[in-house]
Amino acid sequence: MHKKSLIVVLLVVFVAADLIGLGFLLAPVLKPAELAMEKTHATSQTVPQAVPSIVYDDTTQPQTTEAPAHDTLTISFVGDCMFASNHGAANPGSFNRMAQSQPPEYFLKNFIPMFQSDDFTIANCECVLSDDETLTEKEVTTEIAFWFKGAARHADIFRVSGMELASVVNNHSHDFGQKGSDDTEAALERVGVLPGRREKVTYTTVKGQKLGIYCCSLYSHDYVYNILDKVGEMKQEHCDLIILYFHGGIENETVPEDWKVRACHELIDAGADVIVGSHPHVLQPMEVYRGKPILYSLGNFCFGGNTHPPRNTAVYQAVFQIKNGQIGEREDVLIPCATYSGGSNNYQPYIVTNESAKQEILGFMHSPVAF
Ligand SMILES: [Zn+2]
Repeated sequence: MHKKSLIVVLLVVFVAADLIGLGFLLAPVLKPAELAMEKTHATSQTVPQAVPSIVYDDTTQPQTTEAPAHDTLTISFVGDCMFASNHGAANPGSFNRMAQSQPPEYFLKNFIPMFQSDDFTIANCECVLSDDETLTEKEVTTEIAFWFKGAARHADIFRVSGMELASVVNNHSHDFGQKGSDDTEAALERVGVLPGRREKVTYTTVKGQKLGIYCCSLYSHDYVYNILDKVGEMKQEHCDLIILYFHGGIENETVPEDWKVRACHELIDAGADVIVGSHPHVLQPMEVYRGKPILYSLGNFCFGGNTHPPRNTAVYQAVFQIKNGQIGEREDVLIPCATYSGGSNNYQPYIVTNESAKQEILGFMHSPVAF
């Protein structure tokens, strides 16, 4: 047959085969990329959109959707996170300026693997996160005062860093009035981070265990009565773990006050399982009282408040065994950290690896609490 005639006949055959649904006859002459387009196209017409497009080699995908067996529940705690600057300004060297040039992953990049691989992480959001430029700073009578505000998108720093709950119960949540506080809670919720609200217990279930988390103030012993009520509520709600995350005490004080120690003991006596505090901006020793941990202050963690905050800080992890679905023994893990590296605050805390620096922090955290 003449060459031209042969080509015409072949073309007619291919077109006819395609028209009558025998497209597979064409497969040998289509390149893989063209095949892929064909398959994806065909799939999109017959399968709901939620199903991902065809994966050609799925032998690497897990063959089961069952959750792996877990035998521990790890809850991480850090202290004050201030993703903001005084007056909401963005001066050179300030947190807000850094956040304009860096992605949200920048700030806690040294902790993302840790907080993403634990089961729950709790922090204090010690600032207002709002884009409302009309907010006015609250009036204060103290000589030294600060008004901390960052953009609403800074809430995403908690999310990308693997933090699940951020307390908004602190002395800076209302720096820009009620609207500023409401905006902060909304900003956290928008990115899927639970706000630890004033006067409200947060209930959540992790690995089958019901956690009750109450974020609260503890500026004097009088505050303990409100917290005792909430401990009672959490017991009535049959929580497997009752967690108190408080803000209070005296700033820059490295020893927990007697009344604070007494209050925490009373809260443990009443049924609290873990108590963690912040606000002093510095670490205070931890204590195990009647088998339950009290972290009197975890200090600052990522602190936008100034360019030279105290360096020493720590992550505390409560690691619970889960046996037959029940909370069992707990191990306390303290990870010595620094709030920043370099000559002035780069707003990027890191895990301390220098042995003597580690021992200094651990030795201090385990020093006896006088009472
Ligand atoms: Zn504070």
